Amino acid sequence: MKRLIYIGFDQLHRDFGVLKEAKPGEDVIIFVESQRVLKSRTWHLQRLWFMISAVKHFAKELEVEGFEVLYLKSETTKSGILEAKAKFGIDEVIAAEPHSFGLLEELKGVINFQPSNFFLTDKTEFIKWAGLQKNLLMENFYRTQRKRLGILMDGDKPAGGAWNFDKENRLAPPKNYDYPPYLEHERDLIDEEVLSELKSADLKLWGADPDTTWATTRSGALEQLSYFLTKHFATFGPYEDAMVKENWAFHHSLLSPYLNIGLIHASEVIEAVRNRYQKGDIPIESCEGFIRQVIGWREYINGVYWFFGDEYRKNNHFNLDRPLLPLFTDASKTKMACVSQQISDIHERAWVHHIPRLMVLSNLALLSGVKPNEFLAWMREMFIDAADWVMVPNVIGMGMHSDGGKMMTKPYVSGGSYISKMSNYCKGCAYNPKERIGETACPFTNLYWNFLAEHEDEFKSNHRMFQQMGGLRRLKDLPEVRAESKRILKGLSEGQI
Ligand code: SF4
Repeated sequence: MKRLIYIGFDQLHRDFGVLKEAKPGEDVIIFVESQRVLKSRTWHLQRLWFMISAVKHFAKELEVEGFEVLYLKSETTKSGILEAKAKFGIDEVIAAEPHSFGLLEELKGVINFQPSNFFLTDKTEFIKWAGLQKNLLMENFYRTQRKRLGILMDGDKPAGGAWNFDKENRLAPPKNYDYPPYLEHERDLIDEEVLSELKSADLKLWGADPDTTWATTRSGALEQLSYFLTKHFATFGPYEDAMVKENWAFHHSLLSPYLNIGLIHASEVIEAVRNRYQKGDIPIESCEGFIRQVIGWREYINGVYWFFGDEYRKNNHFNLDRPLLPLFTDASKTKMACVSQQISDIHERAWVHHIPRLMVLSNLALLSGVKPNEFLAWMREMFIDAADWVMVPNVIGMGMHSDGGKMMTKPYVSGGSYISKMSNYCKGCAYNPKERIGETACPFTNLYWNFLAEHEDEFKSNHRMFQQMGGLRRLKDLPEVRAESKRILKGLSEGQI
């Protein structure tokens, strides 16, 4: 009997979700491009292009396999599904549960959901685990994952004698380094058609046209995985936090976009990583650092998203009210070399790695008091791998501490010294990371002290902030620093700093 199967744009895998049991020649596969979603925001062109082109390639592969595929452009996902039901005279549509509160709510009562297995951890299991914790330390969750999944374990002990190798994985950028070339993915007719359709549609778009950075097929995603394991895996760990002008990706795998739309599953990545590691020439700090990202952070962030619920995104613990700074959408609106580099990189490829996201962009948003919901919306719109479940906890909990510490025990803020140590941006910048007052004062350094002073009452009772608050107490020129902050904040809002 013919069945209707709905596939979300982030569930593009033949062996996971409802497609695993689907039968070519019998089942009809439905994709819906929601015009409301497309028109609702100013998206990065590459974000939309990547998702739509990947879906169209995937749909074509299903057709070749013998499936009847319906790709609908409809006002909303719900209206598209109702249209498909009417067309086939079939009332039941099945799908794996959506990965966002919004879509889950929209499709309730319209679709029969089955649990999604696109993550390694069932969300109800995470919620159960989280409910039993005193605090949501990622490290505790990660160790549970290592044991549960049996990854990098020697019996019940961690392989290599430690659960994490963070200390080894914080190297500053190397000098005179031989960077491997980037893997390039050729564009095909589908890619070109999707691009020209998007550019001629009535949409608000930002960012450069796609180059050869991103694949839009599963085979391209697998190539990217294999390239990472061959060229980057061994050196990934030690330099994973470093940022350099000369190389936008360094040794990062660039797999998150594919993982987050389902073209490749976390279990496949882990399996490949394990096999590669078993050859014996990959340092444990690189293997552990990578595995932590996939079975630790990624799963934890998804779990936290569901644990805290849909209202969590509205948190604004510090009552921040500054509109999004102009520099976030125009790199020419800042003289800060580190920020300008990130915005230019995002413009080119819709991607920068986790440290620029956290310690440059989120750090700046928090220190300058940008409204968390505006910064969250910007992150959702600009990154190629952004999904609601990724960005809500990462911005509200981690990046901006807007939940008051429900997720992280302290805010991730720093002055220019961290950026100076972990990058080579400061040389040649209009500002000096060591200066906190004066025309060449680094905005990060100045605003960092201003932020600590502003929230001194709250932070002085946080033992994890002990060292930072000690530094604040020793500051002799705090009144001048705070007066300077007013000028810097005004300049940031006006796009002059
Ligand atoms: Fe960024 Fe400050 Fe360094 Fe300039 S001096 S690159 S603003 S950290």
